[in-house]
Amino acid sequence: MSVFGRAACLLNRHEPDRRRVNWDGWHYVGQCRGCGIAIEREALKLWRRQKPQDNRPSENEAG
Ligand SMILES: [Zn+2]
Repeated sequence: MSVFGRAACLLNRHEPDRRRVNWDGWHYVGQCRGCGIAIEREALKLWRRQKPQDNRPSENEAG
């Protein structure tokens, strides 16, 4: 964990734990090394917080 990593997390730019990266059939998914949340790869070297996989609204989801 680094200061830079944590700052990136605040900007929704996460870094995966490469040992835990998986292909879910649509995205690469993993867990952030900095903050530990579930993340998905949006583009090369660009990992975002993972979105819900179904289309239902998730208003009950607290951060
Ligand atoms: Zn993070």
